[in-house]
Amino acid sequence: MTGTVPIEEKISVACEIAPRIYQLFKRDALLERVENVKEMALKSKAMMDELGVARLCTQCALAGDGAGCCSKKIEDWYEVPTIVLNLLLGVSLPTGRHHKDGCIFLGENGCTLIVRYHFCVNYLCKKIERSLGQEALSLMKAQYGSELFAVWELEKVIWRYFNMNL
Ligand code: SF4
Ligand code: SF4
Repeated sequence: MTGTVPIEEKISVACEIAPRIYQLFKRDALLERVENVKEMALKSKAMMDELGVARLCTQCALAGDGAGCCSKKIEDWYEVPTIVLNLLLGVSLPTGRHHKDGCIFLGENGCTLIVRYHFCVNYLCKKIERSLGQEALSLMKAQYGSELFAVWELEKVIWRYFNMNL
């Protein structure tokens, strides 16, 4: 499934296959790793909060109906496995768009996902980099790296299952 497929269709496929993926993960004792990914993602978000990045990014994202890094084009980079992981973690996916030109996952108070695409996790603009300083930036990059690696490992499992069964 490529970026040309509308995000609504990817969400629909993810909802359809998530119960099967859940059973596969249960069989292969991978559910614990999904929880582990959640912990890492929440740790990254907590770090963003503590360092003031989340506040700046949310303001930026919500300004002008989805400006900043959360524009509509980013949702096209999302693929089914990332959406499935969010479903396995109990995330409620959007049924409509909050912001006309914004990413479909952008809610009233910022991003509604737990597991996010690598751009969403580790992109920081120059303004944020300057506000953080080198030490905090290095800590954040290390944290993001661990999270993204753990997510990628699980996404590979989902891709394999997905390719064999659809
Ligand atoms: S990284 Fe910079 S441009 Fe992107 S949402 Fe945050 S403040 Fe805005
Ligand atoms: S998934 Fe979340 S962080 Fe990424 S562009 Fe959409 S709202 Fe922003």
